[in-house]
Amino acid sequence: MRVLVTGGAGFIGSHYVRTAIAETGEKITVLDGLTYAGNLANLEPVSGAYDFVHGDICDTELLAHVVPGHDLVINFAAESHVDRSIEGAAAFTRTNVLGTQALMQACLDARVPKVVQVSTDEVYGSIESGSWDESAPLAPRSPYAAAKAGGDMIARAYAVTYGLPVSITRCGNNYGPYQYPEKVIPLFITNLLEGRKVPLYGDGGNVRDWVHVDDHCRGIRLVAEAGRPGEIYHIAGTAELTNVELTGRLLDALGVGWDMVERVTDRKGHDRRYSLDDAKLRALGFQARTPFDEGLAATVRWYADNADWWRPLKAAHS
Ligand code: NAD
Repeated sequence: MRVLVTGGAGFIGSHYVRTAIAETGEKITVLDGLTYAGNLANLEPVSGAYDFVHGDICDTELLAHVVPGHDLVINFAAESHVDRSIEGAAAFTRTNVLGTQALMQACLDARVPKVVQVSTDEVYGSIESGSWDESAPLAPRSPYAAAKAGGDMIARAYAVTYGLPVSITRCGNNYGPYQYPEKVIPLFITNLLEGRKVPLYGDGGNVRDWVHVDDHCRGIRLVAEAGRPGEIYHIAGTAELTNVELTGRLLDALGVGWDMVERVTDRKGHDRRYSLDDAKLRALGFQARTPFDEGLAATVRWYADNADWWRPLKAAHS
């Protein structure tokens, strides 16, 4: 099977590519614009085992050339960092909405038999208690989440209007190796490894449901195999934690105390809590299998062992 992975040089897309090459017979094409978050070093363990196209998912001419011949297209390409979307929303709207539309059209034109649009729990906004199922209304609160919601709506419209066989996945916060060190877990680990303090937003009471990147990618693969066109599938994690609880686990793992934490002004419009009900995907046989404590310990070890990967990224953006 030939699979086109857009955004395959980013954190989650590269995990999909590395595991697909190691564990399946899938032949992979990566299409990636190599923004600050895209990094071919993420694919170094499988270098030579995939085809690479350096390009933009908004480039319709390029897509018309690249997309045909693939049996599955998975769209990971996105601007993905909420804080950056607050600083400047335009790139998020361009890639996450217009890029998704361009890709869906190219998949329709090429009659791709299966498409997966990778999305996020953030499209629902914030929930005080309980969990969202797939029928919950969209109420995004950051430019990132709004742009992802727009992309999801376009994908769904292509399924309903044109019969494009696209399914949408929505997942909680991911963690694992090769995550760009601006997101909270790799930022905190790498700061602590460098002996620097970590910035904790507001009262630290914001709650996130943590999903190991490997569980996310297994969920996406299951949706590619068994998901129904036009349907949405949640991928939930194994640990619902406040940011204070998460920070405590990271301080313990690195053997340092709360004196390494610096309280900083809260993110604008900071969503309080996300929580997904993933019964629909579990009915297809899915189960998240990475216990959070094990996944976090392995992640801390990975960053400790791979400073050559993250030090240049931090240096370039500090
Ligand atoms: P990432 O920022 O690490 O990677 C994004 C990749 O997309 C990069 O390689 C970048 O170069 C590429 N890209 C960006 N704009 C592009 C464009 N116009 N054309 C081609 N390539 C482009 O993001 P990630 O954390 O790996 O997230 C991947 C997907 O999963 C995103 O769609 C994101 O919304 C979704 N998601 C992420 C999380 C999370 O916790 N990280 C959770 C749920 C869903």
